[in-house]
This record gives sequence, C-alpha cells and structure tokens, in this order.
Amino acid sequence: MTTQPQLFVATRNAHKTSEITGMLKNQYIVSDLNGTDFPVVEETGTTFLENATLKAVEISQLTEGIVLSDDSGLEVDALHGEPGVYSSRYAGKEGDNAANNLKLMRELAALPSDQKRSARFRCVMVLAKNGAVMASFEGVVEGVILDTPRGGEGFGYDPLFQPEGYTETFAELGAEVKNSLSHRVVALRKVIKWLEGQA
Ligand code: IMP
Repeated sequence: MTTQPQLFVATRNAHKTSEITGMLKNQYIVSDLNGTDFPVVEETGTTFLENATLKAVEISQLTEGIVLSDDSGLEVDALHGEPGVYSSRYAGKEGDNAANNLKLMRELAALPSDQKRSARFRCVMVLAKNGAVMASFEGVVEGVILDTPRGGEGFGYDPLFQPEGYTETFAELGAEVKNSLSHRVVALRKVIKWLEGQA
C-alpha cells in the first residue's frame, strides 16, 4: 500500500482549499490552517511573491511536508499596477469588496472608457518545506475594467473585470468558466505539473 503525500495549504479560505483539492484529484491529502492555532502571517511584502513566500516559509516551519501558499490581486495599468498587493484593502478596510470596487471606479472615472482600462489578475504560488522555498509559480489572466459592475457571482473585483476574449465579467461568467481560466487556476496547473515531476 502506498501512502498518499500530504499538502498543507497556507490559507484559512476553505473555498481556496476545496478548489485546490479538486484540481489535485485526490492525489494528495490536503489540509489547511482551519482548525490549527498557527499564527496569522502578516503580509508585509511589496510583491505577491514576497507575501506568498512569507506565508509558505513561516507555515512550513510549523508543519511537516510540503506547504503551498498564494497571494493574488488586481493590477490596473492606468493606475501603475494598483491596487496590486493592496487589492483586499484598497479602500482602507481589509476585505471590503464593495468599497474597493467603488474606489476603483472613482479612480478610473476620469479616463475615457475605451482607454487605459487594461488590467490583469495575477496569482503567485509558493511551495516550501522545512522553512525553505522549493519553487514558485505565477498565473495571469488579462482583461479590462468596466465603468459599472455587472453580475452577481464571484467575489472581489469580479463584477468589474472582463477577461480577454469574453463580453461578460467574471461575476457574470460564473464559477465554472472563471475556474477554467483564472489566474489561480493557471498558477495551480503549474504547481500540479511540478509536483507530478517530483513524484
Ligand atoms: P487573496 O490573495 O486571495 O488574499 O486575494 C487578495 C485580493 O485580491 C482579494 O481580496 C480581491 O480583492 C483580489 N482578488 C484576488 N483574486 C480575485 C478574483 O479571482 N476575483 C476578484 N478579486 C480577486
């Protein structure tokens, strides 16, 4: 009998964990920070890679096996890459999606609607073990920011983000389509390929 390898996901977001578990097709025993008393790792980095590395390295010192962490956000070209690593607290309060979207619309209001609206979601994932980084991966999905929000699904900036090649926003497209092309899925596919190469 072969024992299944373990993968510890450095997140308290159960939705993220189940997305990763599903993509790994039961090849790994996946667990996450829920139910642990591990500390909240402060995201003090100025890049997605720095923040994901902070989380993976710190948590991998507290648990055995491979730890996977991620950090992601929205980069708007006309705003010189903002909100970037500050995506979840763009308007000031952590996780206030409505306020973040309002601020984004306000910041872009002065621009012609067909110009300078290019943007991308970026996700960086890091694998670490025993406090050392094993590898890092990046996933990007390009698109544009609309003038007004559309759609009721998803979270965060989904109602304002229309991915390249589509006429609907992430919030209109729904989970199935979004999860086939999102920045997280693109990064996660690379992680899985790398892990398979190690097996
Ligand atoms: P986290 O890396 O999952 O903590 O995401 C950071 C922030 O980036 C979120 O709070 C959202 O504001 C934004 N964000 C990241 N991924 C997405 C997405 O798929 N849709 C909408 N917003 C996102």
